[in-house]
Amino acid sequence: MIGYGKQTIGKEEIEKIIEVLKSPWLTQGPLVEEFENNMAEFCQVKYACAVSSGTAALHLACLTAGIGDGDEVITTPMSFAATANSVLYCRGIPVFCDIKESWPVLDLNLLSKKITKKTKAVISVDYGGLPENYEELNHICRKYGLIHISDAAHSVGAEYHGKRIGSLADLTIFSFHPVKTITTGEGGMILTDDIKYNHLLKKLRTHGMEKNHEMLVQQGPWYYEMRELGYNYRMTDIQSAMGLAQLDKIQEFLHKRKEIADYYTQSFSHIPEIILPETLPDRKNAWHIYPLRIRFQSLIKDKVDFYHFMMNNEIRLQTHYIPINRHPYYQGLGYHAEDTPFADLFYQQEVSLPLYPDLSEKNRIKVVRLVKEFIRCSRKDIRKEKM
Ligand SMILES: *Cc1c(COP(=O)(O)O)cnc(C)c1O
Repeated sequence: MIGYGKQTIGKEEIEKIIEVLKSPWLTQGPLVEEFENNMAEFCQVKYACAVSSGTAALHLACLTAGIGDGDEVITTPMSFAATANSVLYCRGIPVFCDIKESWPVLDLNLLSKKITKKTKAVISVDYGGLPENYEELNHICRKYGLIHISDAAHSVGAEYHGKRIGSLADLTIFSFHPVKTITTGEGGMILTDDIKYNHLLKKLRTHGMEKNHEMLVQQGPWYYEMRELGYNYRMTDIQSAMGLAQLDKIQEFLHKRKEIADYYTQSFSHIPEIILPETLPDRKNAWHIYPLRIRFQSLIKDKVDFYHFMMNNEIRLQTHYIPINRHPYYQGLGYHAEDTPFADLFYQQEVSLPLYPDLSEKNRIKVVRLVKEFIRCSRKDIRKEKM
C-alpha cells in the first residue's frame, strides 16, 4: 500500500540516536540546543524553541501571544484541528474566516471584516507548503494591533520573497510529525525574532519554572521557582539527534518533493476536470502535500468512488482537510460548515496524492495512470477519449 506521505530515515539518524542512548542525556540536553540553533540559522530567525509536538508549539504560541478568556483569534477552517484547538486550550474563541476560491488560504478581504475589539491574533496556515501572503497579512495585523502566528507545519524550508519561513510572522510554528518535511517522530518548534517571546516560551515549555544566578545567591543552590502555569512540552535529545540528521538532508528532501510535484502538474495540465495546485512566482513551495482538485460534479462517479478505485490499486489517498467547523465538537460549540462555503467546496474536491522523497518513479507513473484512467472512465459523455 502506498500512502500519501512517509518519512525518509537513513543510517545517519540511526547512528546519531545510538550515540544519544550511550550518553548521559536522554531528555532535553545539549542536542536540543544544537537542533534549535541549526534550525534558527537555516530559517534566518533569531530564536527557536523545540517542543514535543506541533500541537504543543501552537499551544505555547497562543499563550505567548497572550490569548486568554474570550479573546478572538481569526483562523482558517481548512487546516488540521490542532490549529483552532490551540485557541480553545487558552479559553479563546476561534473565528473561522473562509478561504479564497482559488486556493485554501485566508481570504484577506473577508478577514478584515471579521476583526472586532476582541480580536487579538490571526493564525494563518501555509497550506500544502505554499507560503501565505505574508506581506498583506502582516500589514493588516500591524494596522489593527494583532499578533500574527503562522502555522507553518507544511512549509519548513519554503520561501516567500526570497526569505525562508520562520521570521515572517511574530511567532512561527513547525511540526516534525513523520509526514512533514523533516521528522523527529513527534516534535515541534516555535520560531521568533522577539527575545521576550523566546524567554516566555522556554519557561512555559518546562512547567513555567525559572532558575537564575540571583536566586541561587539569595536562596541557595537548590533553588528554582515557578512563575507561570507551564507544561512539560520538552523535546528529548533522542528526538533532536534525529532532527539534526534530518535537517542535514532537508535540501535533498525539498528537491525530491518538488520533482514529484512537477511531474504530477505536468501530467495533469490538460485535463479539464482537474484544478491544479496554485503556483506563485514570488514564493517557493515546500510541497508537503500534492492537493489535487477534481470537479466530481462533472463526472458520473464521486470522491468515495475515486478513493475506492485507488485503494483497490494499493494507493491510499488522504484529504486535507475536513473543515474544522465540520467536526462534531465544533458543531457542538455552535460553528457551521456552511459559514465557510469555499472551504466546504474545497473539501468536496480535494484529494492528496502520494508525495514523499522516496516515492519511486514506477509508483509516480502508476498514480498518474490511475488518476487519468478514473477520470476517462467516469466522464458523462461517451467520448471517453484517450488522454
Ligand atoms: C501536522 C500539523 C499540526 C500538528 O502537528 P503535530 O506535530 O502532529 O502536533 C498542526 N497544524 C498543521 C497545519 C499540521 O499539518
